This record gives sequence, C-alpha cells and structure tokens, in this order.
Amino acid sequence: MKKLTVNLGRLIVAVTFIFSGYVKAIDPLGTQYKITDYLQPLGLSGIVPDWMTLTASVALSTLEFSIGIFLLFAIRRRLTSKILLLTMVVMTLITTWIAIANPVKDCGCFGDAIKLTNFETLGKNIILLAISILLWRFPLQMVRFISKPTQWIVINYTILFSVALSTWSLWSLPLFDFRPYHIGANIEKGMEIPEGAKQPQFETTFILEKNGEQKEFTIDNYPDSTWKFIDSKTIQTEEGYVPPIHDFNIEDTKNGEDITQEVLHDKGYSFLLISPNLSMADDSNFGTIDQIYEYAEDHGYRFICLTASTEKEIAKWQNITGAEYPFYTTDATTLKTMIRSNPGLMLLHNGTIIQKWSHNELPAEDLLTKPLEKSEYGKLPAEGMARKILQTVLWFLLPLVLLTIADRLWAWSTWLREKEDTNKILSTSKKKKKMRKKIVAGNWKMNMNLQDGVALAKEINEALVAEKPNCDVVICTPFIHLASVAQVLNSEVVGLGAENCADKAKGAFTGEVSAEMVKSTGAQYVILGHSERRQYYGETAEILKEKVELALANGLKVIFCCGETLEEREAEKQNEVVKAELEGSVFHLSADAWKNIILAYEPIWAIGTGKTATSDQAEEMLAYIRSIVAEKYGNEAAEETSILYGGSCKASNAPELFAKPNIDGGLIGGASLKAADFKGIIDAWKK
Ligand code: PEP
Repeated sequence: MKKLTVNLGRLIVAVTFIFSGYVKAIDPLGTQYKITDYLQPLGLSGIVPDWMTLTASVALSTLEFSIGIFLLFAIRRRLTSKILLLTMVVMTLITTWIAIANPVKDCGCFGDAIKLTNFETLGKNIILLAISILLWRFPLQMVRFISKPTQWIVINYTILFSVALSTWSLWSLPLFDFRPYHIGANIEKGMEIPEGAKQPQFETTFILEKNGEQKEFTIDNYPDSTWKFIDSKTIQTEEGYVPPIHDFNIEDTKNGEDITQEVLHDKGYSFLLISPNLSMADDSNFGTIDQIYEYAEDHGYRFICLTASTEKEIAKWQNITGAEYPFYTTDATTLKTMIRSNPGLMLLHNGTIIQKWSHNELPAEDLLTKPLEKSEYGKLPAEGMARKILQTVLWFLLPLVLLTIADRLWAWSTWLREKEDTNKILSTSKKKKKMRKKIVAGNWKMNMNLQDGVALAKEINEALVAEKPNCDVVICTPFIHLASVAQVLNSEVVGLGAENCADKAKGAFTGEVSAEMVKSTGAQYVILGHSERRQYYGETAEILKEKVELALANGLKVIFCCGETLEEREAEKQNEVVKAELEGSVFHLSADAWKNIILAYEPIWAIGTGKTATSDQAEEMLAYIRSIVAEKYGNEAAEETSILYGGSCKASNAPELFAKPNIDGGLIGGASLKAADFKGIIDAWKK
C-alpha cells in the first residue's frame, strides 16, 4: 500500500513538473516576463538586469523539467526527493504570498498553457507539497525504471535537452503558442465579447454635505435635496468577462490617428514588424527586414512597425537600419504577448495571423519573389497540433527509449554473465564452504532460571549425543548458568559460551564478570558486540575492542556480532555500517588472533521481530563481509572465517539460509530456548 501510494504520488508530481518545466522551456521570454512581474512589487524590476532574469527563466524550467524526469525514472531517488521538497517549500511560500497579497494575477506555473487563479495555485501547491513530503520520507519506495549505472546518461541528457530547448526557443519562437495571438487566430474575433457574457459590476458612492457634516450615500439610500453634492467615487466590485484580446490598438501618436480597424479589416496582407522596445531590439537582421519591406511595397502589401518606443528610440533605429517603413504605437505588454522575439514579424491576412517569424528566421529573399497569393507564405501553415506534440515527445523520448532498451539489454547480458560466473563460483565455493566450520549457536539472552537452564542444556545435549549434528553447536547462556551447564554438556558435541564479558581484566568493577572467569567455568566461547548490548548498555566500538582482546587473551573464541538498523538499510548504508563496526573492534587483530573470531551478521530489524532477511539479502551481506575480511587478512583467511546469520532464524527458514554459499550457520535467539526448535535448526545442515 505504501509503495503504491508513493509511486502514484511520484507519477503525479513527475507529470506536473515535466509539463510545467516544458511549457516554461519553450517560452523562455514569457517566463522571463513573469519573473519580472514578480520582481515589480518587490521594487526590484529595474534593478535586476535582463540577462539575470533570462538566466533565471532557463534555470527554473530546467530545474522543473529535470525534477520531473528524474522522478519519472526514479533517478538519484534520495537527492531528487530532497531537491523536490525544497523546491515545493519555496514555491508554496511564494504562492501563499501571491494568494494573500495578490501582486500578480496569474502565477505563471504553467506558462500561458493553463491559467490558474492564485488560490487555485496555492491549493495545487499544497497537494504537491504533501506528496513531496511523502516522497522525501520514503524515497527508496520509488520503483526504478533504469539501472543505476545508466542514470548519468539520463541526468545529462535531460539537463542538456531542457537548456537546448530554451536556447532554440529563444532563437526561434515557442514551439507551441498558447497566447491569443497564435497562428490561425483572428484578432478581431479574439476581441469579441460573447452575448450574455458576464458584465463588470460597479458601485458608486456619493459624498454629500448638510449643516457642515459630510456623509457617504449609495444610490439606494440617496437623501433628499437638503443635502449638497460634494463628490462621488466609483469602484469595480466584480470583474466582467475579459476577452482573450483586450488591449490591441494601433495608433499614430504624432497625429493621434487610430488605424486598428483599418489594419484588421484589410482584405489583403499586412506585415507587422513588432518590437516592444527598439533600443533593446536585435538589429543584426535589418537587411532582411528592409528587403521584406521592399517586397511588400512592390506587391502592394502593408508593412508597418508596431512599437512602444519613444520617438528618440525610433529615430535611432531608423539611423542604424535605414528603416523606411512607418512606425505606430501599441502597448508594450501587448507587443510582448504578440510575438516572443524583438523584433519579430507577423503576417496578417484579413485580420487573421497566418505567419510569425523570429528575426533569426525571417523568410529568405528568394521565397519572397512570388506574390503572397501564390506562395506558401500567404497561406495558413498546414502543420497540425497532434503532429507537433508527437514530434516533441519523440525528440525527447526516442533517445531515452533507445537508451532504456540498450540499458535493459546490457543488464540482461550482465545478468547472464553473472549467472554463469555464479554457477562456477557456486561449485568452487561449495567446495570451499566445506573447509569452513559450520556453526549453530544459541543465545539464551536473559531467559530461564538456573534449574530450567540446566534442564534445557541436558535435553539439547542428550538429543545431540543421540544424533550427532553435522555442524558445531554452541549454547551461550547467562553467566550464572555457565558452571552448572558445563557439567551436563558433552564438550565433544556441544560447546558452551557466555553472552558477554567485562572490558577490564580484574579488580574493583562490582557486578562485572571477566573473560578469565568465563573461561574458568569451562566455557569456550563468548558473544561480543550484540546489538542489544550496544543499544541498551552503550557498548561502543572502543569498549568492544577491549573486550575482544581480553576474551582472546583468555583463550575464548569470540562470536562477534554486527548489523544495521532498518533506517540504515533503507538509506542503503548497511555495508558502510557493518564495515565500520568491524573496523572499530576487530580488524586491528593479528592474523593469528583472527583465527579465533567467528562473525555473526545480525540485521537489527530482524532480531526478535519475526522479520528475517531474505536468504539473498543475507547472502549478499555475508559475501560482502567475506570480501572485506579478504581485503584485510587475505583470501585464505576469509575463506576460513565462519560467518553466521542471525535474526528470526527458525527451523523453517534455516535450510534456505544455510544453502547459501557464504552463510556458515546461525546465531539463534528465540528459537534456541526450546530443544526441539533448536535441534530443527541444527538439522538444517543435514538437508
Ligand atoms: C539474537 O538476538 O542474536 C537473535 C538472532 O535473536 P532472534 O533469533 O530471536 O531474532
């Protein structure tokens, strides 16, 4: 259930982030304008330079798109979920601010593709934030799509794709145009208010005076004529329907002439060169612009420049480019909405936008030799939306799908090779395993009084004397049992061990039992480093080091335990933790001393919980432990070291566990307290 919820949440966030990142990436200028809108109420819009807001726009789209793709493919799950959470916290704070203070009307989360009110945005972000917390809490529950070694390719490809898409969209025009001035749109139609559309509501307040006292009235409680009218205020109480195009106007500021209708009703073609700000416009393509102007002149088409620039700026542009076309004034925001290029060229036919070009992609001169009526340029382009979407998806997905197939093929061939190798290793390691001691050791912990303990030891001893085990058997008991149990055990068949010993040799350490004392009871083994002693009695690596040395010095064999917590396993830190435990307490020993060490891997999450590590998990860890022993003491010593598994081991799961090449037996807690259960585990070696 947890896995399902996490993966469903991951899909929702991934799709949302991919979409929002993508629509921003294809319109970097639009995102830049939105960032500037946010800076305005903060008083920073004139201060932050344009290059910075444009960089922020590209960075933002890349961040969102990459987070989306990384979540979809479950790449670097922990890091991605942390970055996602941080992003969502920041975004939710910003949207809380815009919902309360209303500094911008539309958050711009989905560019121009989907418009949300500020409260809708806040609601959306709260949901995404909740999912982000879930993903951050359980990142490893996200199912991987692509193997770890191939992830770097997806990471680099995604980032590169997003930056390249933004750069290309800056050079050209947004691949998808979600604005009301898209190709195919009729400007006049976009300005129409449909019949029955919601009208804006206004309220007027009148200020009137009588006997020197001023009071406010509305039309509903307007008083008699003894009151004298002073002033009135009208405020809009409700917004009416706003058509998609509501601010389109072409004016000749010099003589106050408005030519909007004339242009929109022109049955022929009109080229509109659009530049919100000529002083910022790119003048590198002015030659082509002039040629198009001449072409328009020759064929009787209108060619005008729409700008919000001052006369001085227009004059400067004319000076630089030799422009002879007429200049008209249109609102800067409208011009920015019309085309994402400065300057950009738009072709109208009968009031409908039929072509749009960025200044970098102006139609080549030779194509303008024919009149527009006979050329491709004079018609609406045939390219459909579906084709465009498919093209985009393929551009991104095709390389990734090919990569994923290659990755799967590679993983499959590696798996086949590994299987072959494992088969080979298995046969040799089975031989090697025979060389090592197989051990089943019981750990009674703090259970049973002396009489019950002696009785259990007797029962185990009798059963094993009657039917010789195929492995070494050890029972580790509380201190007070040791001497008595030693009396009832046949030491040829059952070994005896303590569960602990002191970290001091002898002296004034009230309540402690030294290694020497343990040895004197007849015991041959001692368990050290058990997680319960580390956890409840604060036994550190240093203390354990002392204990190990004293135990070995007194001729005891040490069953040294190591293992990770559930959190550490979930964070994939188990190898690191186990290695540190061994390095901290036993890896300093000489090769000779090492011969008396038996290791026991006991994942803490499996001890006494009924949760066993799977045989593969246990085998993987024991193989790892053997590899680090080999690094330290050489292959031969590693092959001779007995490594046990401990954690909810029972007669039912012991055969599967013990069949693994690196598992040399078990350290048994709960199941060692009943002779029959314990014997059942010992018998696993016979299967
Ligand atoms: C133990 O404490 O060493 C142990 C393995 O316990 P259990 O078998 O009860 O999980």
